[in-house]
Order: sequence, then structure tokens, then C-alpha cells
Amino acid sequence: MDPHFGSQEGVRMQYRKDKNGEALSMLGFGCMRFTKKGAGIDVDKAERELMAAYEAGVNYFDTAYIYPGSEAALGEIFERNHIREKIHIATKLPQYLIGSRAALDRYFNEELARLRTSYVDYYLMHHLTDIAMWEKLKNVGILDWIAEKKREGSIRNIGFSYHGNTDNFLKILNDYDWDLCQIQYNYMDELSQAGAAGLKAAAAKGIAVVIMAPLRGGKLVNMLPESARKAMEDSGRGWTSAEWGFRWLFNQPEVTVVLSGMNSLDMVQENCRIASSAGIGELTAADFETLAAVSRGIREREKVGCTGCRYCMPCPRGVDIPGTFRCYNAMFIESKSQGRSQFIQTVGLTREPAFASQCIRCGKCEQHCPQSIPIREKLQEADRALRPLPYKIAIQAARAFMFRRPSHNR
Ligand code: SF4
Ligand code: SF4
Repeated sequence: MDPHFGSQEGVRMQYRKDKNGEALSMLGFGCMRFTKKGAGIDVDKAERELMAAYEAGVNYFDTAYIYPGSEAALGEIFERNHIREKIHIATKLPQYLIGSRAALDRYFNEELARLRTSYVDYYLMHHLTDIAMWEKLKNVGILDWIAEKKREGSIRNIGFSYHGNTDNFLKILNDYDWDLCQIQYNYMDELSQAGAAGLKAAAAKGIAVVIMAPLRGGKLVNMLPESARKAMEDSGRGWTSAEWGFRWLFNQPEVTVVLSGMNSLDMVQENCRIASSAGIGELTAADFETLAAVSRGIREREKVGCTGCRYCMPCPRGVDIPGTFRCYNAMFIESKSQGRSQFIQTVGLTREPAFASQCIRCGKCEQHCPQSIPIREKLQEADRALRPLPYKIAIQAARAFMFRRPSHNR
């Protein structure tokens, strides 16, 4: 497939090759964060954003079985615009739900139906965190299954997305002849998860490396402390905070595609502009010093290293785990009152209560956290900071008023 060259003004998307020489746009569209409308996705808005990205040359679209409504929205949009053959779809097997070979077919066929296609370009085992998960899949016959799907052409490339430690990443990487992998990687996570060591090992095998959470779920843009912003400003580069994150990644030849969960046209245009102008080796020693100062500034202030990935959710007791940590961190990165006021708005006054005090310490969330956060302990700490007694009383009163029952129902 030839790359589709972008038509956004001033943008000429750049491409990097996968294992088989196919050209993938350096910027990939992460389809987990589409704008919601009612209970579902605002498909018309998503279509405008996806098509703007496509017109600017983006040809890699990443989704997953468990992203609510995402596969079906993509299927509808690609069919409506007749672009299925011109783009690459990456989607993922919900491997944590697989207990038999029959389940492999069941989920895969459902994904094909949602996506309105007969093949997937890049099919990934979703969210592996250790070699045991891959072994379990092998025990249900996934190796034969992959070979069969590749033979019949319904899967073109096979890979895995990963959230464990570097050791397990290397074990999985070396256990199979993968075509690609997807890792969390950004200038704050150079040494965590697969890390730079995993990135380099994967690239040395010639497989495509797709990067997720390039801006740590937006935190490297929205939650930068003042000292970090100042370091960026003082550099004289004139780059936005997102640009620093993307350019750090594009600077590395081992990176193939950087995913961004874009949900506005401005974001699409900005990211396409960056991906059309960034290059390997463009960062100078001074730029690395700037990013080191930024990282120091963030680490000094952050209380919990939560990326907001939501893999710990849903909590059976309804606790809003990432929301609580986001506000707790905001207390230290922005200001105490900012963190608490964000907490009241986003956690404290939801119809269904979502407080950390509802936690029964079952530990389910911790089994899924890629950052190995001691969630139970940190939730209690966050709750104490976010809801001192006067706030607790005020929130209770506000809730009682907002969610009071109509009098005829009492
Ligand atoms: S330990 Fe607490 S926060 Fe975590 S899933 Fe259980 S109840 Fe929810
Ligand atoms: S606590 Fe862990 S799993 Fe939950 S959102 Fe944060 S990083 Fe993700």
C-alpha cells in the first residue's frame, strides 16, 4: 500500500517502515478517547477528526475490543468514506477473556463485524504484563490460530501491547516471531515498563514499535508544574509542551508510530504539523537538558505516578481511582485549592458516589495497574488530603441538595 500523502496545508506527513516495508504514518490515531454523545460516541464528530487526520496523511488507526463503541464507530466511518483499503487498522484481542480456542474465533469475528472488514492489518494481544499471560494463550492454541489467520489473510501482522516490566517484555519479545509491539513510552517513562531497553531490543529485531501514552495521558501537557513550563519557555525552541513530548519520541529511530488519542480538530492539526516536521536526531544536548529539568520538576511534585489509563476500572465499589489520583496530584502540581475544586467537580458531585472511602480493599484494581501503584494505600492518603472535614461536610451538603428526591417520592 502506498502512503497517502497529506493535504493539510503546510503538512507533509512522514512515514516509517514496518517489518515488511509497509509505510506507516509517524503519527497514529489512538481511538480510545472519542468524544461521547449520550451513552455512545459522537460518530459525526469523530468522523470529522478521523478524516482530517486521514487527509493530512495519517494511515494508522488503533482501537481495541474493549474501547467502548470504538471499533463499531471506525467501521462505520471507514465504510462511509470508502477508505478501508487505504488505511491500516490495528485492533486487539481481549486476551484476559480468552479461555479456549473457540473464544479466539468468537472475539475476532465480532471485531471484524464491528469494523466492517474481512481483515485486520495489525492484531495485538491486548495488555500483556508478563510471560505467563502469553503462555496461557499458547496453551489454548493461539500459535496455530495465528498461523491459520495469517494464511487466510484475515490477520496481516501480529503483535502485542505491553504494560509489565522490562524483563517480562524481553521474554515475550524473544518467545515469538512478532511483527510489532506497542509500548508505553515517553520522556518520563524512559526507564519504566518496556523502557528504552525494550524499545531498542524490539527495533533490533526489525519489528515495528508503536508508542502509546506519549504524553502520559495528557499529563505532560495539562499538569506540568510552573518550573517545567518555564524550562520549556527558557529553551527558546518555541515548542508547545505536547511538541516536546512528540519530538523526543520522533527523535529516536527505533520508534515507528506514535499514537495520540485525538478528540479535536485543533489537536489533529497540531499533531500532524509536528509529525510532518520532526526528525531523527534533531534534539540537541541543550534540549535533553531542558527535558531533564522538566522531568525533575514533575517528579518533585507528583504524589502518585498514575497515567489515567483506567485499566484498574471499574472498581466494584464505584471508586473513581484515576479521578482521585488526578486531583490529588493536581493539589501538588497546580495548587491545593485547584486539586480540591477539581475533585469536587469531577468526583465529589457525581450522582453515584465515587469516594475512596467506599474502598473495601479487595485489591482487584492493583492486579491491573501497569504502574504497580499500591492503589489501596494511596487512595486513603489521597482521600485524607482531598477531603478534610470542612470539605467533607460541604460536599455532603451539596450532594444532599443536588440529589434530593422529589417530595412526592418520599
Ligand atoms: S481495592 Fe478498593 S479501589 Fe481497588 S477495586 Fe477493590 S474496592 Fe475498588
Ligand atoms: S491507578 Fe494504575 S491502572 Fe488505574 S488509572 Fe492509574 S495507572 Fe492506570
